[in-house]
Amino acid sequence: MSDAHARMATRAVHAGEPRPPRGGSVVFPIYPGTVFESEPGEDAGYLRYANTPTQEYLHGKLAALEGAEAAVATSSGMAAIAAVLHTFLAAGDHVIVAGSVYGGTGVLLTEQAERLGWRVTFASADDPAEWARVLRPETKAVYAESITNPLIRVGDLASLSGFARERGLASIVDNTFCTPVVFRPHELGFDLVCHSATKALNGHADVSAGVVTGSADLVERVRRTTTLYGPCLDPHAAYLLARGIKTLELRVRRQNANAQAVAEYLSGHEQIAAVAYPGLPGHPDHARARAWFDGSGSMLAFRPAGGLEAAEVLIKQLRLPYAAPSLGGVESLIARPAAGNRGRDADRAPTGVPEDLVRFSAGIEDTEDLLDDFAQALDG
Ligand SMILES: *Cc1c(COP(=O)(O)O)cnc(C)c1O
Repeated sequence: MSDAHARMATRAVHAGEPRPPRGGSVVFPIYPGTVFESEPGEDAGYLRYANTPTQEYLHGKLAALEGAEAAVATSSGMAAIAAVLHTFLAAGDHVIVAGSVYGGTGVLLTEQAERLGWRVTFASADDPAEWARVLRPETKAVYAESITNPLIRVGDLASLSGFARERGLASIVDNTFCTPVVFRPHELGFDLVCHSATKALNGHADVSAGVVTGSADLVERVRRTTTLYGPCLDPHAAYLLARGIKTLELRVRRQNANAQAVAEYLSGHEQIAAVAYPGLPGHPDHARARAWFDGSGSMLAFRPAGGLEAAEVLIKQLRLPYAAPSLGGVESLIARPAAGNRGRDADRAPTGVPEDLVRFSAGIEDTEDLLDDFAQALDG
């Protein structure tokens, strides 16, 4: 079927599914094999090459979700991001990073970049004049996140992809926080979209995976990188990810509704000093989210009026959200990013994140139960 024309909920269920189904099974089978027979002159299926049947089935689903020609899945989000950067940056090449990025990406673009000879400029998410100022002959790519972590900002993504297009640079966006339900960056002109599928795409906090989507040419270049470095997605994990994706639209809509309700509740509460959620009219990037997004995402951040101590008490008092990092799963999660991952230096929060900033990932629980829980935690 022409998956790309179906609406999102239908794509999530039907895209990539062979019709008639294989062996009559409504559920696509797991092919655990690492190697497949081939006709002379044909590429043999090999697991690390990401071209075995369950992997290719997943790729079809992922490409349809983002409205892309092609997709390749990897063993984690960081594997996807690293593969894209290794594909488009050689030693001496320069990349402009617009806005703040995920902790692991930040360390990759500083410590590892230095070892690899990549030149990196961290620039504003909003200021095309600054991008033009820092542009060099060696600039090969621009990189951004569709909603930034953990400050929940939306940069000037339309200008960024246009800036890259006019100058022949690869434009790369990490769309993890939005999911394709909320935002499809290829429609706004981005060349390559990465995801941590560990988060909302799988949605059940039980699979590690990453995704890159784009044109068939560009994804083939990325797949060559993953073939050489080896971060392929095991078919069992590929199957679980495809299963998770079937409910993506339902889950993300409920998560968005919960995030919106919690953000509105908190922004009207005297014990909360500030709330960052693009679905609030007072958010500085509200107009961008309305223009480009379908929904406002499942992530919000806030600062209690009582500062760090109040933040810690609130996290303890809440009964439903798990006090854990990560995001996008069916369970609500709550974390203080500045405290997070001390032992895991490779994933640290960007500098400048306030100590009392609390990040909430809305799950799919009943909205009223979540609001009741915040009420008992704040007022109890
Ligand atoms: C979690 C995350 C990553 C890294 O993904 P892993 O699957 O943990 O490797 C990258 N970008 C963003 C925005 C994330 O939230």
